Amino acid sequence: MRDPDCIFCKILEGDIPAVKVFETQDCLAFMDIGPLAEGHVLLIPASHVETIDHMNADAAAAMLGHLPQLVAAVKAVTGCEGVNVLQNNGAAAHQEVPHVHFHIIPRNAGDAFGFNWPAGQYPQGRIEELAQAVRQELE
Ligand code: AMP
Ligand code: ZN
Repeated sequence: MRDPDCIFCKILEGDIPAVKVFETQDCLAFMDIGPLAEGHVLLIPASHVETIDHMNADAAAAMLGHLPQLVAAVKAVTGCEGVNVLQNNGAAAHQEVPHVHFHIIPRNAGDAFGFNWPAGQYPQGRIEELAQAVRQELE
């Protein structure tokens, strides 16, 4: 299923160009046009889905099965020290293109990319309460 207004669907359809890395019937990997570092690659499912929570489990598995190999290839080619795999869902999480995508971002100590990671602390009992709610939701 494709969305005619979606830029990544247009790439999948071949309506706009992209520098492709590999393609299967389930997914496509291509170079990010605005790289956070040289070798920044995107991995997307072949069907239009806006956010990962709406993905079919089989489609997700088929796509993510390629992730280790893709990360290894990016590491080998760029010689980077580390890699961030990033996946944004929703505008609040900095998703700009509403078609599921995984960023594979080469990292090196002291590079320009960084996170604000304001790790908090739970009040007494809250961590168990939340875990129990998630367990129930998963049932
Ligand atoms: P996000 O903020 O997670 O939605 O990231 C969207 C990413 O898509 C950004 O890193 C953009 O540079 C990238 N992007 C947008 N349009 C294109 C395109 N036509 N070809 C390749 N990458 C793109
Ligand atoms: Zn799409």
